[in-house]
Amino acid sequence: MIEHDGTVVLGGGVVGLACARALAQAGEPVLLLEAEPALGQGISSRSSEVIHAGLYYPEDTLKAALCCRGRELLYAYCAARGVGHRKLGKLVVAADASGEGALETLRDRGTRLGVPGLACLTGAELKRLAPALTGAAALWSPETGIVDSHGLLQALAGDAAAAGAELINHTTVVRLEAEARGLVLLGTSAGEPLALRAPRVVNAAGFGAFALAQGLGAADAAGPFYAAGHYFSYSGQVPVDHLVYPLPEAGGLGIHLTFDLAGQARFGPDVCWRAAEDYGFRADRARFAEAIQSYFPGLEPARLQPAYVGLRPKRGAQGAAAADFGWVEQAFGGETGVLHLLGIESPGLTSALALGERVAARWEAGLA
Ligand SMILES: Cc1cc2nc3c(=O)[nH]c(=O)nc-3n(C[C@H](O)[C@H](O)[C@H](O)COP(=O)(O)OP(=O)(O)OC[C@H]3O[C@@H](n4cnc5c(N)ncnc54)[C@H](O)[C@@H]3O)c2cc1C
Repeated sequence: MIEHDGTVVLGGGVVGLACARALAQAGEPVLLLEAEPALGQGISSRSSEVIHAGLYYPEDTLKAALCCRGRELLYAYCAARGVGHRKLGKLVVAADASGEGALETLRDRGTRLGVPGLACLTGAELKRLAPALTGAAALWSPETGIVDSHGLLQALAGDAAAAGAELINHTTVVRLEAEARGLVLLGTSAGEPLALRAPRVVNAAGFGAFALAQGLGAADAAGPFYAAGHYFSYSGQVPVDHLVYPLPEAGGLGIHLTFDLAGQARFGPDVCWRAAEDYGFRADRARFAEAIQSYFPGLEPARLQPAYVGLRPKRGAQGAAAADFGWVEQAFGGETGVLHLLGIESPGLTSALALGERVAARWEAGLA
């Protein structure tokens, strides 16, 4: 049995890395274990790479609080660490007048949460700002932006390692067991059996986090449910300078226009419920084109090129009410405790640094 005297972080996605960084910088001995041969190959590798302002989430949720705090931390971090990002601003477009009330609701809620600069625009004002777009009304969010998510992952890993965290790939934990002397982690490392004991664990294993939490009898650990989202890239210029979203749909934010830092436009994601972790590309291009043309009528469907599929780790099945991020603590006496982070879907990339900050504060207060 290998003994570790600090925190084992499970999962080397953006959330695990942000937690490892924050804990290591607070002086905690940290060991991060990642199943894949490289960090950041899971959910974090297939997102929209949008820094969300914080419009969409009910006020008393972790999603709202962590998105707003995470956005501020992320812009400052990217600037300090040279991670590529751009504050492009975003337009949420209502195709017809029936959507105006929904835009006002987003504006009012976002403003109450402290999101700066939100403003409702008429259809004519939208046309003046972005002549290629059409809509009855829009919401302007100047704080929304894009980030190089792969650069972010590298910077977080570098910081965590520089603060003393040990990051080990190719290591899968399949079971957690609570003992008086600590948590026992069982699995495999580079093909060999692994048995490790540590007082504290942060379970940030994305899709894998649910089974580990369930195995330890954690409450509120149902899932994961899988909601895939397809992305198409667009060959050619989209004559718009901002991110463009329709009104949100059940399970997602709607098929939107975003850009990478090189200016390559892409559209997505839709919401396709799946039975397992399945990244197969099975999108209906005509349905995609129709959705995009509701706000960008000049779209040429033949220019849409299949790009990739992202998979959301949902805490509820299709039709269930939208769930908050799952923050589930288990204390086993002494200094032994585990925090499970479950269903960290969008806006998890934006929220990652705030999650790390909150985990470090919780550790400081004493989890167990
Ligand atoms: C389609 C889509 C679009 C999105 N767009 C945005 C966006 O624009 N803005 C935004 O803020 N957020 C967005 N998100 C959300 C964001 O991408 C996620 O919240 C975030 O990447 C989740 O990171 P994670 O570290 O929790 O998960 P992951 O990146 O999946 O990391 C978990 C890691 O744990 C490892 N692992 C799993 N099981 C085990 C095990 N048993 N032992 C050891 N390791 C294990 C995995 O290999 C993986 O590397 C989007 C998500 C999706 C799916």
